Amino acid sequence: MSADPYAFASQAAEQIVKGMGVTALPINPCTIAEKREIVVQAKPVEDKGCSGMLVRLGNDFAIAYATHLQNEGFENFSIAHELGHYFMPGHVEAVIQGETGMHLSRAGFNSGNKYEAEADRFAAGLLMPRHLFFPAIDRAGEGLAAIEALATLCKTSLHATAIRYTQCARDPVAIIVSRGGVIDHCFMSEALKQLDGIDWLKKREGVPRNTATFAFNQVPANVEHGVRQEETSNLQHWFGGKRHIEISEDVVGLGRYGKTLTVLYGIDLPDPEEEEDENNLIKSWTPRFKR
Ligand SMILES: [Zn+2]
Repeated sequence: MSADPYAFASQAAEQIVKGMGVTALPINPCTIAEKREIVVQAKPVEDKGCSGMLVRLGNDFAIAYATHLQNEGFENFSIAHELGHYFMPGHVEAVIQGETGMHLSRAGFNSGNKYEAEADRFAAGLLMPRHLFFPAIDRAGEGLAAIEALATLCKTSLHATAIRYTQCARDPVAIIVSRGGVIDHCFMSEALKQLDGIDWLKKREGVPRNTATFAFNQVPANVEHGVRQEETSNLQHWFGGKRHIEISEDVVGLGRYGKTLTVLYGIDLPDPEEEEDENNLIKSWTPRFKR
């Protein structure tokens, strides 16, 4: 896996936060917009067309953001995404044609478009800058509970917080977003990517049938009502490989978003030497039948 191609976008946002002297979470993207005299306006709830838009009138800019999900975290993310288009070099020219015009966005970490992906990463860095987010992670505990605590602290959506969490966590953790039996996307922490015998869950791959997430997604009301479960699972079920190790699997419905968030953590691998000893022990105790 190559280095993260969009890391510079969240770093650019972190520099802006630092430069504005913001020293505590949550970061209010409207305050940052105000400092640049950008007008920020809520779109009517009925307007479900896009997550947000950046409007340009010569040298003046305005941001409108969607409110139909009625989720403050999603709204902050949408505003921060538009700020990404405003601040990132080359974006305004690329996403708005001419001196007057507008750009419509679909924020949310699932875009193949370079500018949308950069704006999403900018938003994550702006609302959860590492110099403030790292210490918060250390205090947050683990699993879904940690992500919920961080989302409350940062006023960000569970989904965006979960993704940022895997980018910053020191422990082996993964988050999976699914709909029904299908995996929409998956993010793993560096520590998990570096484990031997771990396969990437590929986009559009099925949710493994013998997991709590699969059972959870069989009941649509679980997703709609934001039901929350803390279960256990097996490393092998999710990632293949040879290790049959019990792990924690927390699952929560994302409500109007229509998807499910799964957090896999508590992945305590035996250290490689111990594992080797154990394998040798098993071998030495396995009877061999020779003819
Ligand atoms: Zn956009």
